[in-house]
Amino acid sequence: MKKILKNWLGACLLALSLLPASGMAAGYTQTTYPIVLVHGLFGFDNIGPVEYWYGIPSALRADGAKVYTVQVSAANSTEVRGEQLLTQVKQILAATGATKVNLIGHSHGGPTTRYVASVRPDLVASVTSIGGVNKGSAVADLILGVAPPGSLTNAVVVSVTNGLATVINFLSGGGGLTQNSLAAAQSLSTAGSAKFNAAHPYGVPTTACGEGAYTARGVSYFSWSGAKPYTNILDPIDPAMALTGLAFGGAKNDGLVASCSTHLGRVIRDDYALNHLDEVNQTVGLVNLFETNPVTLFRQHANRLKNLGL
Ligand code: CA
Repeated sequence: MKKILKNWLGACLLALSLLPASGMAAGYTQTTYPIVLVHGLFGFDNIGPVEYWYGIPSALRADGAKVYTVQVSAANSTEVRGEQLLTQVKQILAATGATKVNLIGHSHGGPTTRYVASVRPDLVASVTSIGGVNKGSAVADLILGVAPPGSLTNAVVVSVTNGLATVINFLSGGGGLTQNSLAAAQSLSTAGSAKFNAAHPYGVPTTACGEGAYTARGVSYFSWSGAKPYTNILDPIDPAMALTGLAFGGAKNDGLVASCSTHLGRVIRDDYALNHLDEVNQTVGLVNLFETNPVTLFRQHANRLKNLGL
């Protein structure tokens, strides 16, 4: 009887100890400023019937964040996409009454968000770049026919090109590429990125693979990326990611961007076992089961922003 009572008391104490934990979840992602998610190359706010940021906005909203997904030109220059984003940021500020936004960009969304923070730092609390093409991509260099890093054999170049065709076809839902894909490729090339960085240097590391300034002109800068092109045998896009990953001649990459190129501001991590699409929880949640779930990374980051008062 004594033992039963002891067990019962123990269960009560355990239940009580769990209460504060569930209480902590409420407001866990409740940032001061709205979060604006900015898609990458050929990304839309949806890929076909599927949202680009698969399951991410709802997971952030569940614990208090205000989240907006925007749509800019799928394939265009960083400046054109950036101006489109700026217009939408102003609309979001007007609609919410907020004074600033937290911008989070994936892939080409990284430089796109940086553009807005560069021309209107007063409207931006933070920029977070995920798998961001901040110093260009060897894959874009290959499309433009400029020398790839190292000496890739012709067979490898053909493999990368085939892989890329598959990726593009997948991300654009098989539709025609009606936008300016040449301008996009130029923006995403190593040379094009260097030119953009010269005009918009904030948060960009000055060393080849270091961190950048954590804050510049009142804007906080963060980044993370994956570094594993092939992660899930069930994901139909992974074989193509493995092919495009060959463009980097062995340098750490997520299938489309070298880890060092993704660095911006405070580098949270650049070697998650995730590929470029895993970073936004694609395809439909088929990611590496042996790595922290990407949705969790977004939740943790919202909490990080919240704790910084952003
Ligand atoms: Ca995946």
